[in-house]
Amino acid sequence: MIYECHGHIILDSVAYSQAVARHKNNVDEAFVRKNLQTNANYGISYYRDGGDKHGVSVYAKTIANEYGIDYITPAYIILKKGHYGIMFGRAFEDISEYRNLVSEAKSLGADFVKTTASGLLDFSKGGYVTHPSLALEELREMVTIAHGEGLAVMIHANGADNIKRAAEAGADSIEHGYYMDITALQIMADTKAIWIPTCVTSSNLLGSGLYDDSVLAAIVMNHKSAILEASRIGVTIACGSDAGASCVSQGSGTLDEMEIFHSLGIDPTLGNMELSDRFRRS
Ligand SMILES: [Zn+2]
Repeated sequence: MIYECHGHIILDSVAYSQAVARHKNNVDEAFVRKNLQTNANYGISYYRDGGDKHGVSVYAKTIANEYGIDYITPAYIILKKGHYGIMFGRAFEDISEYRNLVSEAKSLGADFVKTTASGLLDFSKGGYVTHPSLALEELREMVTIAHGEGLAVMIHANGADNIKRAAEAGADSIEHGYYMDITALQIMADTKAIWIPTCVTSSNLLGSGLYDDSVLAAIVMNHKSAILEASRIGVTIACGSDAGASCVSQGSGTLDEMEIFHSLGIDPTLGNMELSDRFRRS
């Protein structure tokens, strides 16, 4: 059984905004079916989506069983206004709006909540993360509300301080987790947050000509060291490629990510199973 623990059925691995715009008025059902079929062809039978605001992942969930895929989705990202994720999500300004977005996602069939504690890496320079950060107390309240609704929480977080806050707030999983440090890993080991490092989002860009390879190579090398350290201290790690992201194709991207785990001597099977158990809606 092959797990894709972090994918985007809405994306085509080329251009984010055009891929999202394709579904602006109506879900492009043929596109979704094509992506599901590609995943099935690669033997993928579990797919945890990151959500979108056009109902694409909600639609995919209704037909994924035709392709033998156990598919789960947060419906859409629930983000704080002005923070990262508006292309895939809906924003709240205060906690009552957050509650309403959680309820609405749940009524659409969401299996879990996805939010963002930071932005993206800026691949043109190492060490820099875009967008504002969320405060610990706010994250904690958001996680508590989601858990109260029986929903696990997936938190997109890059930068050690953002990762620490997300884990301390009770995140069930930390997505990406670039610029990790040992303290953040220790907190994750204590809180049992599962890490989905999405290594190929950086390593597959090497040689693409999109960014400076020396900056990318340093990012990839540090990320791999952190993954090894995580494995050593007992952080649960799961395999998710960010399928659909730039240079990460549906299906083959998942195998690329698995290949990185294997090259580091890490078997993600148990982590993948733990993640799929934890993110099943209770
Ligand atoms: Zn993603």
